[in-house]
Amino acid sequence: MILILYFVLKKATQMSKYKELDYNKLLFGENYFIYNVINDNNRLLVKIKSRPHICKCPYCGVEASRVSSTYHRILQDTPIHNESTYLDVNVHKYYCLNIDCPHYIFDEVLPFAGAREVRTDALNIFILGVSIFLSNEGASHVLSLLGVNISNKSIQRLYDCLEFKDDPNVEAIGVDDVAIKKGRTYCTAIYDLNDHHLIALLEGRKGTELKKWLKNHKKVRIVARDRDTSYAKVIREVLPNCTQVADRFHLLQDLTDNLSIVLKKKFPKQYS
Ligand SMILES: [Zn+2]
Repeated sequence: MILILYFVLKKATQMSKYKELDYNKLLFGENYFIYNVINDNNRLLVKIKSRPHICKCPYCGVEASRVSSTYHRILQDTPIHNESTYLDVNVHKYYCLNIDCPHYIFDEVLPFAGAREVRTDALNIFILGVSIFLSNEGASHVLSLLGVNISNKSIQRLYDCLEFKDDPNVEAIGVDDVAIKKGRTYCTAIYDLNDHHLIALLEGRKGTELKKWLKNHKKVRIVARDRDTSYAKVIREVLPNCTQVADRFHLLQDLTDNLSIVLKKKFPKQYS
């Protein structure tokens, strides 16, 4: 009897200790919930809908709550355990009751995907992150192994949509060359050292375009750059008072190169 009581109490303690978590809020925010997940033609279809029937009109900003109709929108999302994953979103159309608004009906604004997108924002970032060091064809192949369906042409279209937000008042920048088109073409990438967002992508890596760019950004005081002398020369010419420093990546590269030389000298040949 005591033994049974012990196991009942133990089971009750375990049940209260391990509570099932609700991932809805983590995945799509507190206003969207998953109501079904099905396997449909070798893809996961996650069915979601909005919790409140209220939405701000994207044209005038006034909140609307009168639903005109609903429809299903299919969006590809980041893969779950490398399985192709799609969202089936129950989207509302609302009446905008603001008489000054030029739009009588508008579509629900989804916080995780643009209006005409076929993929979620999270997946687009995932694709760009994977394809940044690969050719579009190679990236498309790698992504398909990870559970993402996208052609090399669609990857290119995604890159073409990227906007670089220039800041004419930027004071600290990073400059580095990047290879595109399988290393056959080079560009100069300029990014803000404070938050590392890309400001500009210039043609070539000889410094000609960088020179023109620096002439319009005279507030720059610090430049982190690679060891290439062409950038250093141009920066000195346009901004003679600017401090130039080697960026962390190239400092580490120098350190490992030199360590390798030292270790080769110190250790017997069979270990180097
Ligand atoms: Zn409106």
